[in-house]
Amino acid sequence: MSTPNEHGAIPANENTASGSGRTASRLPRRTLLKAAGATTLVTATGTAAARAAAAAELKNDFDVIVVGAGLAGVTAARELKAQGKRVLLLEARNRIGGRTWTDTYQGQQIERGGAWVDPLQPYVWRELNRYKLPIIADAGVERSILPTLDGFKEYDPTEAYARQKELFTPFFEDGNREYFERPYEPLYREDLVRRHDGFSLRDRLDQLRYAPEDEIRLTSTTSLYGGSSKRGALTHLTQWWALSGWNFDGFHGVNTYRPKDGTISLLKAILAEAAPTLRLNSPVASVEQDGSRVRVVTRAGQQFVAPEVIMAVPVNVWKTIRFTPELPQAHRTASTAGIGVPHEKKLWLDLKRPADRFVAEAPEGHPICIMGRFDVGQPVVAFSVKDTFDVRDRRQVEAAVKDILPDAQLLSYTAHDWHADEFALGVGAFRQPFQLTRLHRDIQKPHGRVKFAGGDIADGWSGYMDGAVESGIRVAGGKPLTAAEIGRLTSAAALRAPQVDRRLYRSMSAF
Ligand SMILES: Cc1cc2nc3c(=O)[nH]c(=O)nc-3n(C[C@H](O)[C@H](O)[C@H](O)COP(=O)(O)OP(=O)(O)OC[C@H]3O[C@@H](n4cnc5c(N)ncnc54)[C@H](O)[C@@H]3O)c2cc1C
Repeated sequence: MSTPNEHGAIPANENTASGSGRTASRLPRRTLLKAAGATTLVTATGTAAARAAAAAELKNDFDVIVVGAGLAGVTAARELKAQGKRVLLLEARNRIGGRTWTDTYQGQQIERGGAWVDPLQPYVWRELNRYKLPIIADAGVERSILPTLDGFKEYDPTEAYARQKELFTPFFEDGNREYFERPYEPLYREDLVRRHDGFSLRDRLDQLRYAPEDEIRLTSTTSLYGGSSKRGALTHLTQWWALSGWNFDGFHGVNTYRPKDGTISLLKAILAEAAPTLRLNSPVASVEQDGSRVRVVTRAGQQFVAPEVIMAVPVNVWKTIRFTPELPQAHRTASTAGIGVPHEKKLWLDLKRPADRFVAEAPEGHPICIMGRFDVGQPVVAFSVKDTFDVRDRRQVEAAVKDILPDAQLLSYTAHDWHADEFALGVGAFRQPFQLTRLHRDIQKPHGRVKFAGGDIADGWSGYMDGAVESGIRVAGGKPLTAAEIGRLTSAAALRAPQVDRRLYRSMSAF
């Protein structure tokens, strides 16, 4: 285990906005490109002349330009390749993966972004099976620490699970089986969804008039997912409940499993099959279209032209790119208001004490919503959605941890502030009230020759990796799964994963 750094604060580059920095040298970029069969690479560091030559050379070589090499972008590229299309994939960062980011800390593999996958998530699960990527289950927890009106108390995890189940079930027993009759088609019963879409998670808590000692146990979840209970829409969490099988067991157990070799193993596998021309370090500044073609210009001034463009960047980022003609009103409204949850940070803590496997939840407003250690020897993972919580300030981090675990001894930590990350501007999607009924359908629509993809605008598991894959397939003209296929893929029989007691887990997907 390491010791605290000299100044008691983590190095600034661990919080960098772009998510670039030290990972750059570690990620095997050239290997990646080789694996991907990439044919061309000109980085932003190339000479102006080389850039100009490359731009000219590339000008008309592509059928489609995909912007953004996250899960949605690489999936779209693969689907296009299967149709015989020539694809240019432009990525702003020096790595692929976007809001998934496999890294190392204290010699251990960590995920700075999305981590967990689940058999209830058919698109991503099918991909893992397709590439035969090994899946592991976390070990689960030995104790649960929950907030009470008298401070934090420790519970047996199965006891805590049973009580949370009693408390959470009524939260969703509000006719959702009718209004999300088809959870992968969230507007199938738009007439009914409309009645609920204006409610925030806070509204629902108020409506149910939980006793204060009960409510305090629920706000870790409602604040974490919504960004705050007031921000998050009831219909988004209810849709996840519906996708989880309309019960607490499914909801609570997502996410128990992880790709053994990290989310990057999935990204690399898809990219290798897609074999696009990949350009890293190529943030797109503007997208201009006329009746027959689209011109994409990077910040470095490189220009690419194709008949079609797929923007696979986060919704929150759309507003930072200049579109000509400008984006339709719905797209502008969604990007300005944001769909990706704001202010979220993910931390990995090296705690000398406690060393066991635990999960701790905190009430709304606490700097840390939830933290836990899921395998002995692994660092503790923690999530925050508090805007004033500065993860660069070690004192703030230590105080927040000690408030929940007074005996904790923090040796060191690393963190990423996804809100400050200019190519994310938030974490995964969690819609606000009215965004489903007023914006969802419109922001999926193309803007002329420009299409949109991403986990933020998926129909099913929006906000998860599953949604990113779904959206990438859909936008590239691939075949979305039918209800029967989803049923088959998510059935118990299809569960090719280690069997575990799902009560010992706690949904930590965190956005
Ligand atoms: C902290 C955290 C925890 C999460 N936990 C989970 C989890 O446990 N399970 C789960 O399923 N999901 C989780 N998610 C959500 C999941 O990671 C995302 O929903 C999913 O990865 C989104 O994929 P995407 O391709 O739509 O977007 P992204 O991954 O964001 O990809 C978009 C790409 O576009 C690039 N880009 C942005 N701007 C530009 C530009 N101007 N020019 C060129 N490229 C640009 C970005 O760099 C990025 O690579 C989590 C996310 C975070 C951040």
